[in-house]
Amino acid sequence: DKALTPTKTSFWNNFNKVLVGKSTVDDEILDRLEELLLTADIGIDTTLKIIDLLEMRVARDKYLNVAELESILREEIESLITILNQAEQNTALPHIILIVGINGVGKTTTIGKLAALYKQAGKKVILGAADTFRAAAIEQLKMWGERVGVPVVAHSMHTDPSAVAYDTVQKAIQEQADVAIIDTAGRLHTKVNLMNELSKIRRTIEKLMPAAPHEILLVLDATTGQNAFIQTKAFTEATAVNGLVVTKLDGTAKGGVVIGIIDQFHVPVKYIGVGEQIDDLQLFDEKEFVETLFK
Ligand code: GDP
Repeated sequence: DKALTPTKTSFWNNFNKVLVGKSTVDDEILDRLEELLLTADIGIDTTLKIIDLLEMRVARDKYLNVAELESILREEIESLITILNQAEQNTALPHIILIVGINGVGKTTTIGKLAALYKQAGKKVILGAADTFRAAAIEQLKMWGERVGVPVVAHSMHTDPSAVAYDTVQKAIQEQADVAIIDTAGRLHTKVNLMNELSKIRRTIEKLMPAAPHEILLVLDATTGQNAFIQTKAFTEATAVNGLVVTKLDGTAKGGVVIGIIDQFHVPVKYIGVGEQIDDLQLFDEKEFVETLFK
């Protein structure tokens, strides 16, 4: 499994050295663990939460065996990142997905991969190039459309993103598509602007389909560490993000970002990107993810 390999070697394997020659969990071990969690980009709040839970456990059991530490930590992390996906399963068609996130995080690539996933599942997919601020974004989406073999609705640069979103949804309805995936501009210069842009797109889509968009997926780059937290805060405040896609987990020891962000924002990670190729998008699986941290 090529996914998450660097995380494997840097997380628990490094820590194992600290445990050599110790039988019970002491303050030194907890201090080093705290450092390790911070280095892994889990974030200060979630790190302290994990350490507090372990301290309580040590206080209660008096002598917590070092051998037990790994399984306790695994359980803690797993429960932190397992949040009930309460979003109603949408059955209305077409299923409308809005993709948000700042430039460079892997939005376009994710859209291409997602389109391929749906297409492989036999679904009829339409893409919408509503990032009209960059010519490259429109061109790139068209390229992915060709690669995957799905139509792309696009207008010229600098036109109203809402108009593209509207046309995409309308075409999806007319042509009885199963899924429409709409790209948006990742401009985060001011939160008000971001909020206004995304609200306008949402209102426009709602005119055609009251419950749409059914999914608003925020794409985050795992290699950006704490910036991913800042972006999550801005986007969840600006719009009703109900799922995350964390990209570039193949090339980083920073998989810890996933743990901190789910814990802090209570939004589920739906997919992870593990490479640049078309099939490098996976459904997020909590158990599997935690497993890779401890291998
Ligand atoms: P956008 O500006 O957000 O649309 O970002 P792009 O989709 O253009 O991606 C930016 C760069 O990240 C490109 O070089 C992609 O190939 C790369 N990329 C996207 N997702 C992944 C991933 O999961 N792993 C790796 N290694 N690279 C990725």
